Amino acid sequence: MKLFDVYPLNPVEIVKGEGSLVWDNNGQEFLDLYGGHAVISIGHSHPHYVKRLTEQLNKIGFYSNSIRIRGQEELAEKLGTVSQKADYQLFLCNSGAEANENALKLASFYNGRKKVIAFKGAFHGRTSLAVAATDNPKIVAPVNETSNIIFLPLNDPNALNEAFAEYGNDICAVIIEGIQGVGGIKPASQEFLRLIRTHCDSYNSVYIADSVQCGYGRTGTFYSHDYAGVNADIYTMAKGMGNGFPVAGISIAPKFKPWHGMLGTTFGGNHLACAAALSVLEVIQDEKLLDNASEVGAYLIEELNKFEKVREVRGRGLMIGIDLPEELSHVKKDLLFKHHIFTGEAKPNVIRLLPALNLNKAHADRFLEAFSKTLNS
Ligand code: PLP
Repeated sequence: MKLFDVYPLNPVEIVKGEGSLVWDNNGQEFLDLYGGHAVISIGHSHPHYVKRLTEQLNKIGFYSNSIRIRGQEELAEKLGTVSQKADYQLFLCNSGAEANENALKLASFYNGRKKVIAFKGAFHGRTSLAVAATDNPKIVAPVNETSNIIFLPLNDPNALNEAFAEYGNDICAVIIEGIQGVGGIKPASQEFLRLIRTHCDSYNSVYIADSVQCGYGRTGTFYSHDYAGVNADIYTMAKGMGNGFPVAGISIAPKFKPWHGMLGTTFGGNHLACAAALSVLEVIQDEKLLDNASEVGAYLIEELNKFEKVREVRGRGLMIGIDLPEELSHVKKDLLFKHHIFTGEAKPNVIRLLPALNLNKAHADRFLEAFSKTLNS
């Protein structure tokens, strides 16, 4: 059997990691400003994470959701504190797409409606309704197509007002990333998020904050949507939640009432997943990683804005997009192959920085120096 070839691969094999550094099978060191696609939140192989997971595995790795799993309760408690949403409820699953599917499903159970507002440039996952709400027709299979999704331009209050005026009581939910990731690091404006809140309140629609990429402390607040000063009804989380262990979840406002069988999953919230997620939150708290993400992110953004050749620097905290002109399309590859620095990308020509939240200033400087060299080469 061979692999189903769906990923364009870089010819690099990573075999070891520590903090923001990784090494390939030849012993070559790389600086990781991509975090394995925004997943590595507390750094590779963090000692506390390794200890917690090892201890848990030595006791029990998995049992099903038919029994009490104390780690789930501890996780709900801790997440409520760190995210400052102590009155919210937690449902655990396994991936970002699954979190969004469950959020949309819950919204529809709640108000009995079908229409969902999503935004141009959005990415919400590759399954069923999550992919239908993703603005990329290439990855939407015929079976996923639905007339229930209304795509609107991001940050356009008139379009949002008109959609609610027209469809009003048919709108089940509005789903929005606080900062679009795949879409090229495009922040939703605070006024726009507040307008979503207002309409959802008026029409009993559900405000779903997709925090899969922009959440979990990456931008300096726990959820990037929270900069707007209003609460979403459901927050979806994945990527950074388990620092590489597949764990995801939705944080659900008190007004949603559960019933047995409403949502479910086999693997979601198993013992190992909870140990991973708890250890991430413990490190986020102990090492004050939200503050670090703010500080090091602000420093990077300030320094990047000094490069005249850069078209625009977007983002907040450690979710940064560097928009480059066409003639600098070589920069990302040069960073990887000449300077051994991993970064992400977004089309057409945006470099995405999504490092671990404990990235230090020395590593930020190492990147800035290499970036300056590639711009001028
Ligand atoms: N939502 C956003 C904003 C994402 O960036 C992603 C993945 O990149 C997803 C959802 C889907 O997450 P997953 O790949 O874990 O299904």
